[in-house]
Amino acid sequence: MRRGLLIVISGPSGVGKDTLIRRLLELDPNLVYSVSGTTRKPRPGEKPDENYSFLTRDRFEELVRDGAFLEHATYNGHLYGTFRDRVERARAEGRDVVLKIDVQGAEQVRRLVPDAISIFVIAPSQHELEERQERRGSESAEDLASRREIAKREMEYAPEYEHVVTNDDIERAVGEILRIIDGARQRVT
Ligand code: 5GP
Repeated sequence: MRRGLLIVISGPSGVGKDTLIRRLLELDPNLVYSVSGTTRKPRPGEKPDENYSFLTRDRFEELVRDGAFLEHATYNGHLYGTFRDRVERARAEGRDVVLKIDVQGAEQVRRLVPDAISIFVIAPSQHELEERQERRGSESAEDLASRREIAKREMEYAPEYEHVVTNDDIERAVGEILRIIDGARQRVT
C-alpha cells in the first residue's frame, strides 16, 4: 500500500478554508482531516475533537515537551499544533491527510516533509475577504481587527507555496484542489 500524501492548506482568516476542506472530504473519500490541538476557546457550534481538540495551555505545553506535535505555532495569542500520531497513523493506512495550518506551521512542515503538497488559498480581492470576515461574525471586534492584520502579513507568504488557489467559487476552487491532489497521486504511484 502506498503511504498517504500530506496536503497543507493555508490562507488568511475568513477566506473559507473550513468550507473548502469540508467539501473536499465529501467529494474524496480517501482524504482525511487531521484535527489539530488548540488553546483557543471553542466558537459556538464547534465540537471537541471534531473541529479541534481544545486544550489548556499547560496540557499543550506538556504535549510540546513530549514531542507530540509535528509542528506548532502561536496565532493571535493562542497555540495551535498538528498531532504527529494522527498524521502518521492515517498516512500509514494509505489515507491522504489534509492539514489546515498557518504560515508558520506550513514552513515547519515543508522543512520536515519536503514532499508535502502546499496550497495557499486567497480571496478574489481584499474587499471580498474583509466582507467575508465580517459576515462570519464569530469573533469580537478586537479579535477581528488582529486577524485582519495577521491576514495582511500572511499574504506575503503565498509565493512560498507550491500552489495558490483563488476561492472565487467554492465548487470551482474545490475542483482545482482535487486536480492538484490527483496529480500528486499519479506521481507517487
Ligand atoms: P482559527 O482560530 O480561525 O480556527 O485558526 C486560526 C489559524 O490557525 C488559521 O490560520 C488556521 O489555519 C491555523 N491553525 C489551525 N490549526 C493549526 C495547527 O495545527 N497548526 C498551525 N500551525 N496552525 C493551525
